[in-house]
Amino acid sequence: MVHLLNAIDDLLTPWFHDHGQGKYRVGQVRQWLFQQRASNFSEMTNLSQSLRDELSRDFTIWSATVAKHTQADDGTEKLLLTLADGGQIECVLLRDEVRRTICISTQVGCGMGCVFCASGLDGLSRNLTTGEIVEQMLRLQSLLREDERLSHIVVMGMGEPLANLDALLPALAEATREDGLGISARRITISTVGLTKAMRRLAETTPRYRLAVSLHAPNDELRQQIVPVADKIRIADVLAEADNYFDLSGRQLTFEYVLLGGINDSPREATELVNLLAGRTAILNVIPYNPVAGLPYKTPSHNAQRAFRQILEQGGVSVHFRHRKGDAIDAACGQLRRRAQSEAALVGIDARVGEGEGGRGGVS
Ligand code: SF4
Repeated sequence: MVHLLNAIDDLLTPWFHDHGQGKYRVGQVRQWLFQQRASNFSEMTNLSQSLRDELSRDFTIWSATVAKHTQADDGTEKLLLTLADGGQIECVLLRDEVRRTICISTQVGCGMGCVFCASGLDGLSRNLTTGEIVEQMLRLQSLLREDERLSHIVVMGMGEPLANLDALLPALAEATREDGLGISARRITISTVGLTKAMRRLAETTPRYRLAVSLHAPNDELRQQIVPVADKIRIADVLAEADNYFDLSGRQLTFEYVLLGGINDSPREATELVNLLAGRTAILNVIPYNPVAGLPYKTPSHNAQRAFRQILEQGGVSVHFRHRKGDAIDAACGQLRRRAQSEAALVGIDARVGEGEGGRGGVS
């Protein structure tokens, strides 16, 4: 079965032609997928029954299944999706006043190894396909009430987005198309730990989106401890590519800084950050750490957060402390997946105990 969301137009145009149908049929299917939020061909009632049956035989709209759907009191909803090959990813819908933001994943696991992150704990399994990325958007859109509309996309879920640009860019093109989700490119933010070659490629080919560069430390020595991949990428080079992206795109840059208690939250690091970001038209998002089970990192104290913020503000940095939404549902990247896997592993252990030594292994 072919996953339609991988290349909707390229798959449907020849298919309808072979079935004696005009190209306008592609637009009808797109309308059902993106505007009517259809999840199967049988809903597409302006196509004949035989066409719907044949489409269902040749294509699938969903390639994943929902393993878990959690909701928090603040309106945040999170999906844990099981992919066709058994891999699992997470995606999140955030409600904030009139904003409806979705946060999507680009890889199963992550190879960047940021020490505080649940997604990277088991390394990278594989890149997602374009269809799997678009599917997250549509599944999250289908959680909205009829009177709600998606307004923003942040590509900040599981994985390093710039390590999977080949699949991500066509997916984002679907998000911005008028006959797709119709979301303005300036409302789409791609995050990166600072893969400089890919930043250059994005700047030269598609400088339409906002870029969020994860710093997490103001100097190379500390950054290498927090973001291991940074031992090959100097902060100066990352900032040079970020500046280049800003020049070509005109989009205000964002820098992300996960504030880890006792690690990167001292006045010294705040002062270094001021010096680093001075003169840049950029926003610094500071995210006080959300503890992950099994990892030793702590949320910084309120005093440390206050002092850190004060130094940045006095230094003229445009700083936002980001609220943690959806704490009750493991909203930090990779946490729901890990919890589901450890629960599944426990079930597997229980099953083995019940079945004796010849029983099935863990099911994670
Ligand atoms: S924080 Fe992002 S880049 Fe770092 S390991 Fe986690 S998913 Fe990967």
